[in-house]
Amino acid sequence: MGEFIILKRTCLYFFVFFLVYSSVYGPRVEAWSKEGHAMTCKIAQNLLEPEAAHAVQMLLPDYVNGDLSALCVWPDQVRHWYTYRWTSPLHFIDTPDKACNFKYERDCYDTHGGKDMCVAGAIQNFTNQLSHYRHGTSDRRHNMTEALLFLAHFMGDIHQPMHVGFTSDEGGNTINLRWFRHKSNLHHVWDREIILTAAADYYGKDTSLLQQDIEGNFTDGIWTDDLSSWRDCDNMFTCVNKYAAESINIACKWGYKGVESGNTLSDDYFDSRLSLVMKRIAQGGVRLAMILNRIFGDGQQQEDLMAAT
Ligand SMILES: [Zn+2]
Repeated sequence: MGEFIILKRTCLYFFVFFLVYSSVYGPRVEAWSKEGHAMTCKIAQNLLEPEAAHAVQMLLPDYVNGDLSALCVWPDQVRHWYTYRWTSPLHFIDTPDKACNFKYERDCYDTHGGKDMCVAGAIQNFTNQLSHYRHGTSDRRHNMTEALLFLAHFMGDIHQPMHVGFTSDEGGNTINLRWFRHKSNLHHVWDREIILTAAADYYGKDTSLLQQDIEGNFTDGIWTDDLSSWRDCDNMFTCVNKYAAESINIACKWGYKGVESGNTLSDDYFDSRLSLVMKRIAQGGVRLAMILNRIFGDGQQQEDLMAAT
């Protein structure tokens, strides 16, 4: 009898664990890994001008000691909480299979048809919210903190190519395969596997060294000449469309290409995609800094950024 109760209780524990686990990790995992998001945010924070750096500092809670990257993954941690469940569709965009392009009006809605409910719409929304920072009263500051964290996170997500993927495979999430010797899926390969393999193979598992290499490539390296075009942004509507279009383009040419369920991806795939992953993290960081510098910088730049959105 006693054993039966223990067994029943054990089953119950497993069941509860399963429910919690599946609500946290399934059915769809959407984000650069925490490493990818942290690098994006560190790169951005290193590029902030004094006014923006100060505003970010003021918005962050004290316990992170001014380090934006410590909270960049926060939107992924809360997206299954009841209060934040509405933010779940904001981490990605589903585009029609094989279309290999992004059209805001066609693609930026959630499964219930909610307009602007995708990562491109979210970036516009939170940029717009933050642009009222100067006029905010103290009780609005709390929402401004959340707006900053969402913007920082979603600027990372929109640059992860598989976050602007095909609808039927959920951005590669349902394409199960092997990454070298372990089980993974195509979405996760771009979220995390490539970054972790690079960190292990070349940087002694230290992602801050990988981040320094990424920064070196645009401060004095192969992407230096591209920096001003990355930052080019007349208004947020045009800009988010560009970022999403770049991602689906890379997803088609490099993400999905030649990959089928059941494949094993290893050296060839890793070697030919690593520089793209590094570049997208760089672009996410550089552009996040551009937006924050304009929001918190002089008023005219802020108005230009939000014009026509
Ligand atoms: Zn995300």
